[in-house]
Amino acid sequence: MKKEQREKIVALDKRYVWHPYTSMQDYQETDPLVIEHAQGARLFDFDGHVYLDGNSSWWVSTLGHAHPRLVAALKRQADELCHVSLAGVTHRNAAELGEALCRIAPPGLTHVFYTDDGSTAVEMALKASLQYWAQNGRPARKEFLALEGAFHGETLGVTSLGGIAAFHDAFEGNAIRCTHLTSPCVSLERSLDELEATLRRMQDRIAALVIEPLVQGAAGMRIYAEEYLRAARALCDRYDTFLICDEVFTGYGRTGKQWACDHANVSPDFLCTAKGFTGGVLPMAATLVNERVYSGFLGARERTFYYGHSFCGNPLGAALALEVLRIFEEEAILQNAVPKMRRIAEFFESFQNYEGVQKPRALGMIGALDLDGDATGYLAHAGWEVYAEARRRGAYLRPLGNVVYMTPALTISDTELCRLLEIFQESVERVLERGRRKA
Ligand SMILES: *Cc1c(COP(=O)(O)O)cnc(C)c1O
Repeated sequence: MKKEQREKIVALDKRYVWHPYTSMQDYQETDPLVIEHAQGARLFDFDGHVYLDGNSSWWVSTLGHAHPRLVAALKRQADELCHVSLAGVTHRNAAELGEALCRIAPPGLTHVFYTDDGSTAVEMALKASLQYWAQNGRPARKEFLALEGAFHGETLGVTSLGGIAAFHDAFEGNAIRCTHLTSPCVSLERSLDELEATLRRMQDRIAALVIEPLVQGAAGMRIYAEEYLRAARALCDRYDTFLICDEVFTGYGRTGKQWACDHANVSPDFLCTAKGFTGGVLPMAATLVNERVYSGFLGARERTFYYGHSFCGNPLGAALALEVLRIFEEEAILQNAVPKMRRIAEFFESFQNYEGVQKPRALGMIGALDLDGDATGYLAHAGWEVYAEARRRGAYLRPLGNVVYMTPALTISDTELCRLLEIFQESVERVLERGRRKA
């Protein structure tokens, strides 16, 4: 029965669905996971297999799947109000969430603009900064600075900021102007020298520096020193340009604090959040801004920010986002994750001096290492071999090229984490062994 259902789903899927970040040529030959339900850190498929969700389903379910309080909040809200536009209309959740977010945000962030997802949270920051300068005496500031290896999402605007060639080469010539700087993951000193020199040279043209604070996620979980954040903030102040921090991945405890910016006590001019924002239940996001940005749009009506999405401030999403903040506080999510973070750090440290492994690293609920692959970059295969090994053993560990990593839910149980680490280790060892035999 289940088997028949599964076959039917796969047949329909292969006939009709175009999958994200997936070669549809190869997909026809693959046997996809068909998930029936999910609970906590576990995914259950139609064949009766259970998988530990090693990456919180693309980094979003930070509180685990089907958290009972989130499911209850969603049902409650659905009975009351599912949707209303936010253009000149408001509702309780949008208002209360605004207050709650500003209370936990880095100091100085005083207003919230609601968006749909991570991409539009950053897109909003780009457009608002361009319009801000256009109507506040600096109309030539039309360009952006970003880091090599940056990833800020999928709209054409934020794709221009991307520093991963495979993701944006096709869109050259259709993009906004962006200069890519050496990442602090490569060299802190060089990246800061370059930032300063570029700001000095291009001060009149730069609208903002856009960064993923502390971790460049999609580039391969590349972690850098918090000094960079303080220095970048100081340089943006000195040259009077905006600092946009994309906390879409790093926010909500992923790095061990509410925000990655909190590690350095830095307040950006724009802070973008999504993914864990609704506990990964619905697509909804927000961009927080400071008083300076907000007041740059006051005055004559022509100064209005004419921007908004159909689902801005969606009541269901906002109800979830409010409940997520309550859960963080009442269930002491960050404090309770500390021993797990320590366990992850120790585990990845144990890969030091491992033959075939480079740069084992960890921060908060992130652990990663690079495998020596036959090809380098996003299209390397060793990571996918680990994926296949892990899947056989009951864990979902989608790699980033030859980077194998884990970003489990903050609420994963100790036993589940232990098992995830075991599977990770066994899978990596098996692939390395096979590589050695071939060599
Ligand atoms: C995932 C991600 C985005 C894009 O978010 P979506 O919700 O997928 O649009 C933007 N920035 C960072 C740092 C991300 O990790």
